Amino acid sequence: MSTIFSKIINREVPAEIIYEDDLCLAFRDVSPQAPVHILLIPKKPIESMAKLQEEDGALMGHMLFQASQIAESEGLSEKGYRLVINTNQQGGQSVYHLHMHILGGRQLHWPPG
Ligand code: AMP
Repeated sequence: MSTIFSKIINREVPAEIIYEDDLCLAFRDVSPQAPVHILLIPKKPIESMAKLQEEDGALMGHMLFQASQIAESEGLSEKGYRLVINTNQQGGQSVYHLHMHILGGRQLHWPPG
């Protein structure tokens, strides 16, 4: 499986990368839906939440913590933000490399569409 996100990890496609470590990468969404819209992805090419294995638990915990740190560094923590993982067709997933949206900088509505 190779997606546009694998190409961003491998620097074959440009992106505005804002955080990277051994396990994950964060970059700004090319089509932002809020003043701050960042995608956080595992370097491991997991297709979706539906393909997650129990062994991926520590990786997902690491990503949740890094999401909180990125939100803090983007100045979102006090007013708030939203983490979203769209999953498969009815969940609105378009890129089949698991990714977490970090959205903030405006009032977000509930329920989402
Ligand atoms: P989803 O619909 O949850 O699968 O989200 C995929 C997201 O990837 C969308 O918000 C797109 O705008 C974003 N996206 C697609 N290609 C790129 C790219 N080359 N660089 C940054 N974001 C991208």
